[in-house]
Amino acid sequence: MELMDKVTALAKRRGIIYPGSEIYGGLANTYDFGPLGVELKNNIKRLWWKRFVEGRPEIYGIDGSVIANPKIWEASGHIESFVDPLVECKACHRRFRADQLTDSKKCPDCGGELTDPKMFNGMFKTYIGATEDEGSLAYLRPETAQNIFVNFSNIVNTFSPPMPFGIAQIGKAFRNEITTGQFIFRTLEFEQMEIEYFIRADGWEKVFDSWQEELMNWAQFVGIKKEKLRFREHSEKERSHYSKKTVDLEYEFPGGFKEIYGLAYRGDYDLTNHAKHSGQDLSYRDPQSGEKFVPHVVEPSLGVERTLLPMLLDSYAEEEGRVILKLKPAFAPYKAAVFPLLANKEDLVGKAREVFEMLKQKFYIAWDARGNIGKRYFAQDEIGTPWCITIDFDTLKDETVTLRDRDTTKQERVSVDKLSQYLENKIAS
Ligand code: ATP
Repeated sequence: MELMDKVTALAKRRGIIYPGSEIYGGLANTYDFGPLGVELKNNIKRLWWKRFVEGRPEIYGIDGSVIANPKIWEASGHIESFVDPLVECKACHRRFRADQLTDSKKCPDCGGELTDPKMFNGMFKTYIGATEDEGSLAYLRPETAQNIFVNFSNIVNTFSPPMPFGIAQIGKAFRNEITTGQFIFRTLEFEQMEIEYFIRADGWEKVFDSWQEELMNWAQFVGIKKEKLRFREHSEKERSHYSKKTVDLEYEFPGGFKEIYGLAYRGDYDLTNHAKHSGQDLSYRDPQSGEKFVPHVVEPSLGVERTLLPMLLDSYAEEEGRVILKLKPAFAPYKAAVFPLLANKEDLVGKAREVFEMLKQKFYIAWDARGNIGKRYFAQDEIGTPWCITIDFDTLKDETVTLRDRDTTKQERVSVDKLSQYLENKIAS
């Protein structure tokens, strides 16, 4: 089996990612995250927020609305240009990205004849209120970035930040994607982690370079292998007309290198356009010199699912008959699992419960009393739990437990009162 198929099967088997609407035959490009998938995504988002918002005094977080005034999308250029050239099959009416077909004349699904490439809008439409007419038309946001630009003045007025400063957001984005079959790499709805970093035009190159470094460091911090990552700079033709430089961070998926994150220098395009369309002054006044100008912006844009998928692919390992997700402990869904050696010995179960309750105050901990220890290790390895803690007869005598490491399978005795600190130190290291 190919690695991608193995990871997809494991994700389903162990409650990480399920195909969307499965009991109704599914819905292409949609997935539901199970109990462990939601933990993984929450850990990614939480640690990103900690690093880039809580850890950076000049970056402010917001949480904007998915449905916004449609004028935003006129100003941003999405209504006009958020499109990829598509071709439609004249027989089965399915649409495909023209630039992704090997044979531009033949439908890859049914072999039917294809139309010439056309531009279709990639935004999902919806209607506000009782009538479905042009006046009530709205869109689900195709990116989180525009919420940031329309709140630029709010942040400036509320916090008076000195330059440079950033505004960050994590949230859902929706795109009417037509290329199917890429697991969570390309979905109709996904989560973005975006920052608009507002700067003076002078010296944008240095800021750009530092964000490029931040993206690379973050990708490795989550556990993606360095040798699978590369930057690819967009050619002039590929780049949006307002961007002077765009670089994608690409990951080598089993099928080849593909974008996981984007970094763009967008000049003053967004603020200038929103100022024009809204009639509002979106300039910035330097608190010291009084100088007024429209800031330029560097935009790192990251996908949560495109973080998770490489993490799963790179952490998947098969060793001596066991499957292991070698996730970094900080990102693993459970930090540890607690077992009573035997499920039918009341004093062992009672003591194990005590340890479980204690650790639960600080960490997300799994409890397992089924089957034998070997089976429990096997199950925890598959979901990436870094440590398994067994309460045995010695525990009752000397207050120590067996702590087994996921990657080395080495076991050591640790005293119950040191467990919490032990886990904390290991997770932080
Ligand atoms: P692609 O060329 O793969 O469609 P894009 O260049 O349109 O991607 P951007 O507009 O730069 O993507 O979006 C920023 C980030 O949002 C991407 O780097 C990716 O992490 C994420 N992203 C975009 N589209 C999707 C999608 N359909 N499913 C999952 N993540 C996505």
